[in-house]
Amino acid sequence: MENQEILEIVEKQRMFHSSGKMRAFSERKKALKRLYKNIKLKEKDIYEALKKDLNKSEVESYMSELGLSLSEIRFMLRHGKRYSKNKRVITPLAHFPAKSYKIPCPYGNVLVISPWNYPFMLSIEPIVDAVASGNTVILKPSEISPNVSQVLKELIELSFERGHVDVVLGGKEECSFLLDQDFDYIFFTGSTRVGKIVRQKATEHFTPVTLELGGKCPCVVDKSADLKLSARRIVFGKFLNAGQTCVAPDYVYCDESIKDKFIEEIKAEIIRQYGKEPLKNNSYPRLVNQKQFNVMKSFLKDNVIFGGKCDEGSLKIEPTLIESDFDSESMQDEIFGPILPIVTFNNIDMAVKKINSYPKPLALYVFSKSEKVQQKFLRECDFGGGCINDTIIHIASSKLGFGGLKQSGIGEYHGKTGFDTFTHYKSIVKRGSLDLPMRYHPYSELKYKIIKMFLK
Ligand code: NAD
Repeated sequence: MENQEILEIVEKQRMFHSSGKMRAFSERKKALKRLYKNIKLKEKDIYEALKKDLNKSEVESYMSELGLSLSEIRFMLRHGKRYSKNKRVITPLAHFPAKSYKIPCPYGNVLVISPWNYPFMLSIEPIVDAVASGNTVILKPSEISPNVSQVLKELIELSFERGHVDVVLGGKEECSFLLDQDFDYIFFTGSTRVGKIVRQKATEHFTPVTLELGGKCPCVVDKSADLKLSARRIVFGKFLNAGQTCVAPDYVYCDESIKDKFIEEIKAEIIRQYGKEPLKNNSYPRLVNQKQFNVMKSFLKDNVIFGGKCDEGSLKIEPTLIESDFDSESMQDEIFGPILPIVTFNNIDMAVKKINSYPKPLALYVFSKSEKVQQKFLRECDFGGGCINDTIIHIASSKLGFGGLKQSGIGEYHGKTGFDTFTHYKSIVKRGSLDLPMRYHPYSELKYKIIKMFLK
């Protein structure tokens, strides 16, 4: 898209916001209802686009993209009105007599930048939260999933007035140009590398940001874990979208004593879920492009213990297990593909220390029957969020915030947390004419005593 066209959209959004059209929640609700209806209307087009970009099956597309987006809209339709009301808070005695409250106000013009791996859900969910809180949004979806980006553009144009929510298609150049403009809030989902650029650019305008980033998410398997069930849930979380999931278990970190048995359980589970020939399984997604395919292939050396077959024509790689240690190539960076390294520990204290010696992960999973072991990892490791005895499902709840910390992100969204992310709360004290005179000059010993009585 041409720069001039982008500037016109930015200007239109500024005017739209100043018009105050979305001040009333009832207007936001109408827009969200239209979005809900149009997602249903364009359901087939969305499935087709996800199939073309990532070979996602209809079931997987509904479960991890459409369904989650629809349920976020329903959540905001149900709760948004309440969230949009002023919140009374207790007034301290020193302010007596007065009322204190917070006014939820939209930031204004929001820029949402989304990635290619869940290209629909990771575009729609932030839009829903931003619109529910009264903002305008420019969405810049990923150029790497072009079919979904095109459907998103059509869907947004069908659902929102121009100036309220708009889509700018394009890649790095368009995104950089957008980042040079003065937005009131930037919401970015993508790599830690680009997240850093986004944050630096936002600083130029003092613009607050949410960064939803990536990293290596450890999946701890303790010797007390139910190995069959753990294998089932790890295989689900790891190979969903062929491992191209920010919260996928990046590697299994298991107790040395159960390693061999656990590997057998994972192998059996991969066959159960994907069949003996996953490359021929039509509902198994592919790598998004040749570049990602080549990166994954480079991990497949003599350390493969299961899987490892690739099909360059379809850009698919089998669910693969590799034996690794912390010095292996596969353990240096986020994998983001269907390759699962198995790394072991002998001692839980050391395992906690090892995890904490790496950048703070977006998610951490603990498989264990021992409450003590569960609590040890939950309390002593720093990470965004996670599950005990399951993987990735914590992101599928509008009641839980979702986000990372430090290298894996800043801020959260989903449900109430999402509403708050895009809201500035103005803190107000409303006073009448009655006055306590002790704060005014001239000061005296008595006034000093009274002030000390109130403020302690
Ligand atoms: P990416 O950072 O390459 O791209 C994300 C967006 O930034 C795209 O829209 C792209 O056009 C834009 N972009 C790319 N380079 C840019 C630049 N130099 N300047 C300005 N804009 C630029 O990420 P990706 O490859 O699309 O997604 C994969 C990454 O995203 C993984 O690291 C994954 O863990 C992470 N991710 C995180 C979450 C989360 O919710 N925390 C969700 C999905 C993906």
